[in-house]
Amino acid sequence: MAVTRTFSIIKPDATRRNLTGAVTKMLEEAGLRVVASKRIQMSREQAEGFYAVHKERPFFGELVDFMISGPVVVQVLEGENAMQANRDIMGATNPKDADAGTIRGELAESIEANTVHGSDSDENAAIEIAYFFDDAEIVG
Ligand code: ADP
Ligand code: MG
Repeated sequence: MAVTRTFSIIKPDATRRNLTGAVTKMLEEAGLRVVASKRIQMSREQAEGFYAVHKERPFFGELVDFMISGPVVVQVLEGENAMQANRDIMGATNPKDADAGTIRGELAESIEANTVHGSDSDENAAIEIAYFFDDAEIVG
């Protein structure tokens, strides 16, 4: 297996509950290293662009409203097969289906306010990292 990078967002439900550290600890304990991190307030345009792949889904408007409802922490994570390692520690999209010990299983509030985003492929990870970070901001 190769060391790769993936993209993560700690969502507004988590920053509101002061869980940035708790989420990051779970990521680190899963073998991932935070090689870039910044706390930002996303604009509506930025959130709509980020989630453009979901724009036909019925929850798109609410998802964008939620993602701009408070600050988020965008991160680049590095590790062995980082995309899959992150998806594994995140847990299922709906916290009702998420295993105990996963971030969503332990911390998420609802299917929408589900604490974290994680890229779903290496290709999307590269696109999503470039959407929020310049190369010089990533220090491995
Ligand atoms: P994941 O975040 O697990 O990759 P998706 O890419 O399918 O899940 O969905 C993106 C985000 O949209 C989810 O993390 C969640 O915040 C929101 N979402 C997904 N499904 C629903 C739904 N049925 N109702 C409301 N929000 C949803
Ligand atoms: Mg997704």
